[in-house]
Amino acid sequence: MRPVCRMNCEVLTLFPGIVEAAVGDSILKRAQEKGLIHIKITDIRSFAKGKHKTADDAPFGGGPGMVMKPEPVFEAVEAAVGLRGREETTQGKISAGESEGGQPAAHVILMSPQGPVFDHEKALEFSRETRKIIFICGRYEGIDERVRTLADEELSLGDFVLSGGELAAAAVIEATARLIPGVLGDEESAGLDSFYDGLLDYPHYTRPAQYRGMKVPDVLMSGNHAEIRRWRRKEALRATIKKRPDLLEKATLTAEDRRLIEELKNEN
Ligand code: SAH
Repeated sequence: MRPVCRMNCEVLTLFPGIVEAAVGDSILKRAQEKGLIHIKITDIRSFAKGKHKTADDAPFGGGPGMVMKPEPVFEAVEAAVGLRGREETTQGKISAGESEGGQPAAHVILMSPQGPVFDHEKALEFSRETRKIIFICGRYEGIDERVRTLADEELSLGDFVLSGGELAAAAVIEATARLIPGVLGDEESAGLDSFYDGLLDYPHYTRPAQYRGMKVPDVLMSGNHAEIRRWRRKEALRATIKKRPDLLEKATLTAEDRRLIEELKNEN
């Protein structure tokens, strides 16, 4: 039986090859083959007009660089949402294309360094999204400002500037897909990763037990599962306190966690 597709997305870009390379291998490739996620990659240039299919132009007001033209992006978004001959509102916002429940048929995201920064919470939200998710990737100096009216939200990968939105969109897709049941194999569970329960992950070790004078902690080789579990929880707390104390303030801690934190304090 074919599994139900749990994530339907489309990436609109002038550089489809970058997205293809990022989502066409390993876990995301497998998830697409299994039908758990559907990723369509659309070349915005195919919506550009004229012999040269020009998708960018010089900025009004002068200055360096090029700006992505609005028309191909508007048309690419409309095609992705599944709209033809929609009615324009004064804002230019897509108003038709509603599904039966009255919900918009798609959720449109503009990749931009100016948006709120993507995080685990957002990934969880997207992993439960039932609408199609459409990513608009900019290039050059950016996209004509009017394109912003098409977006339900702007999203940034972090406080730095990339040359395009492709890697950012691929990162969002990958982080979201990991949270969809069945995408990771039984042995690779997202539930143990950093952020999942509000803490950072515990340290991992594999063979050899000794390497360049560095020993794997004895408890991990003891076979005592209760002790191993306790050690891992303590080390997850240690890592979080040391590297991301801000996370600890928001995490839900058990009575055991509090005892382990006391132990850590007494060690110092
Ligand atoms: N001049 C723009 C940046 C343009 S970079 C500015 O300063 O706001 C070109 C494109 O790369 C952007 O349109 C956006 O789609 C993408 N991009 C750049 N940095 C990004 C980031 N941190 N997160 C998400 N997308 C980003």
